[in-house]
Amino acid sequence: MADAHLYLPDGLPEALLEAEDLEVLRALRRPTLIRLPGSGQQPPRAISALLHGDEVTGLQAVLKILRRRRTYPFDLYVLLGNVPAALADHGFAHRYLDDQEDFNRVWGGSGDTPLRQAAAEILDRLRGCGLESLVDVHNNTGDNPFYAIVTRRRPEVLNLATLFTTTLLYWDLGANTLMEALEDECASIAVECGLPGRPESLAFAVDALRRYLGEPALRADRVVRDHELLGDLRKVVVREGVRFRFGGGVSDDIDLALAADADVHNFVEVPAGHTLGMVRPGAPVPVRATDATGTDVTDRYFAVRDGALVTTVAATPVMMTRTVEAARKDCLFYLAGGLPDAG
Ligand SMILES: [Zn+2]
Repeated sequence: MADAHLYLPDGLPEALLEAEDLEVLRALRRPTLIRLPGSGQQPPRAISALLHGDEVTGLQAVLKILRRRRTYPFDLYVLLGNVPAALADHGFAHRYLDDQEDFNRVWGGSGDTPLRQAAAEILDRLRGCGLESLVDVHNNTGDNPFYAIVTRRRPEVLNLATLFTTTLLYWDLGANTLMEALEDECASIAVECGLPGRPESLAFAVDALRRYLGEPALRADRVVRDHELLGDLRKVVVREGVRFRFGGGVSDDIDLALAADADVHNFVEVPAGHTLGMVRPGAPVPVRATDATGTDVTDRYFAVRDGALVTTVAATPVMMTRTVEAARKDCLFYLAGGLPDAG
């Protein structure tokens, strides 16, 4: 059987460097790992984009960088992830397709779906090449500041993340992401570049990737830059069967009306009693919160009071989405707390 991914060991063909973004993807058709050979003085680095098919910023940024035709002191691996999802319906409309899984939840797991096979093949190549670091580029589905996600607090990981931004989130939820699959072999992070399609999102990604590619070896002996580190995440989902929307009020066919601008509080601590939305009279708490062990902790954080869904402790919402599709396919948001300084 053919490989589930496409491997281009000598860079992107010249004709594709001249092509439009979607034309590039049409030529590739499947998850693609590109190796840009370097001069070999330093261990390889990697950038991943499009693990979610609707997150265009990473693709635009890496193509912009590849089109400069630079040679780096290291081999540069570029992964273009869920190409089929990115191509469907005129482009960049789907996180993943209805007959697929989320491509950022299948790394290091088992199974034989096309995406799981592609993930296993790509992981084999990345684990076999002695990577120094990996940066996985994403967009958010709600308004957030630019931030980086780390799963380890080693100095080289924090030094990599703070090349991008000093707003950091410590992720310990174990979601079979690409970044987690490589966390013990190299410095690996995810970078969240705001909403897709915005010029400032692309400018941030390009700037930060250029800093990354121009940076000498990452220091492993000390953390170089001061930073904010949020963590202690609780995942919050809308309960199955709850009919919800953003904006408007509750009605016979809407059980939960979330505030239209709920995402303005991302990365801002809100006090106990903060209203997330309105709930149909008599309905139970319409969301469910779980901690890193999967334990249901809803009652510690949420209640329904006077028809409103409110928080019951001070906490910081992060990654709040503003689309029903993202809330269904992933989650509504996470609640974060502070972490002691890693030093
Ligand atoms: Zn993403």
